[in-house]
Amino acid sequence: MSTYPELKLYIGGSWRTTAADLPVINPSTEEEIGRLPVAQISDLDDALQAADEGFAVWSQTSPKHRADLVREASALMRERQDDIAHSITLEHGKPFEQARLEVIRGCEFFEWDAGEATRTYGRVIPSGPGVKYAVHHQPIGPVAAFSPWNFPMSQPARKIAGAVASGCSIILKAAEETPAGAMHIAQAFHDAGLPPGVLNLVFGIPADISSHLIPSSSVNLVAFTGSTAVGRHLTGIASNNMTPVLMELGGHAPVIVCEDTDVEAAALSSAVRKMRNAGQVCTSPTRFFVHESVFDQFLDVFTKRCAETVVGDGFEAGVEMGPVSNERRISAMVSMVADATDVGAELMTGGNRIDRTGYFYEPTVLANVPDNARVMQEEPFGPLAIVNPVDSLDSAIEQANSVPYGLAAYGFTNRADYVDRMVDMVEVGNLSINTLEASLPETPFGGVKSSGYGREGGAEGLHHYTVVKNVSHSVNIV
Ligand code: NAD
Repeated sequence: MSTYPELKLYIGGSWRTTAADLPVINPSTEEEIGRLPVAQISDLDDALQAADEGFAVWSQTSPKHRADLVREASALMRERQDDIAHSITLEHGKPFEQARLEVIRGCEFFEWDAGEATRTYGRVIPSGPGVKYAVHHQPIGPVAAFSPWNFPMSQPARKIAGAVASGCSIILKAAEETPAGAMHIAQAFHDAGLPPGVLNLVFGIPADISSHLIPSSSVNLVAFTGSTAVGRHLTGIASNNMTPVLMELGGHAPVIVCEDTDVEAAALSSAVRKMRNAGQVCTSPTRFFVHESVFDQFLDVFTKRCAETVVGDGFEAGVEMGPVSNERRISAMVSMVADATDVGAELMTGGNRIDRTGYFYEPTVLANVPDNARVMQEEPFGPLAIVNPVDSLDSAIEQANSVPYGLAAYGFTNRADYVDRMVDMVEVGNLSINTLEASLPETPFGGVKSSGYGREGGAEGLHHYTVVKNVSHSVNIV
């Protein structure tokens, strides 16, 4: 099995180290596994210049060639999936098999956007003789992108796929906690023959990097996935230059469990999904609103299955859930649980840091949580679920919509009238009925309200990476 790669920046088609570095920690063992090179201002300036040069070449490359190259890089990542997954489990802690599936998911994002690269259709507007109006979608320019630590390979993949498929260049700052996933992607594109400067990868101090890159006149789009607070801050910086943004921010996903559903099946699949990635997913099902007539049954099955989750180092056989990524997540959950129980919530299972080395936290279920508990409004971003009874679909929808977020929501029902009402009334970008899947390469993903702006994936995915140009052509001078 491979070792953790030596971490380097990738700028203008070559790898480099820097004078300053920071430790990268394995969250299962709390041991240092690598040193993160910290980009200096001169590195960022080199990346900006490289991105300008890369854009000049890549935007003039045919969509077919771009698509072929993205597919070739993706094929290399599929070949290397075990090595990439190994790095991910080391730096993130998730079970190895889930890391491997994440790599496949990332490859599917690349392959979908490669196909879309050849379908950025414009249109011809009907006109009189001697005059033609044509709408073109052209690559927007160099992109400054920021990806988070919860999916070390598939999160950078989303941004790189959109930019490179569209004919843009990109400077990606991958997460400092989980840098190797993005490095493997850069290596695959390098090996596939991507021209220098089209993809540039930097690491370092997030605020230093974003405050230098975003105001640059070279940057034509800012793409970010992370918390709403940081997204708002970066959008503010971008607004000074009227630079467009693509923001995929936090969520606090509601799950509406109706009285007509198969309660046991809904509870079991919800428990498994909740604990996936230790709950560190922006679409993680978290606020369960269960019809009072099936509440006790749902809570019982859900709590038991959550409590049975096998927690451990992602390399151990049979482990279903790894550690959370860092101490910040542990403190956030400890304080949310204390606050909820103080105001009267019932702790059904979990609620504690696990007494072993590593950032392990118990799968946790809170029931009958009062509206004034902080966790009813704040995203726990960890293995913590809330289960509350409701007396009708309308009160469930009211609760679902009662947070500033609007990313994903789920419903369990077989009644067409219930589905119809959820489709009309639930305020989210992604609604899933009888499935807890919210994001696929072929479907558009993104939020409403404070969950962000724009969509990744689907036929909409490349829109943000292109600009519309209307061309009016008259045969005679008029
Ligand atoms: P955080 O707000 O400190 O950081 C979130 C991400 O933003 C990190 O990747 C970080 O590197 C980056 N970041 C922070 N400040 C930045 C800056 N000034 N410029 C550029 N990038 C910056 O939060 P955290 O403790 O790392 O993560 C917890 C919160 O982040 C969660 O509550 C969740 O809302 C959010 N999050 C969301 C996603 C998602 O998929 N939407 C993923 C990871 C984290």
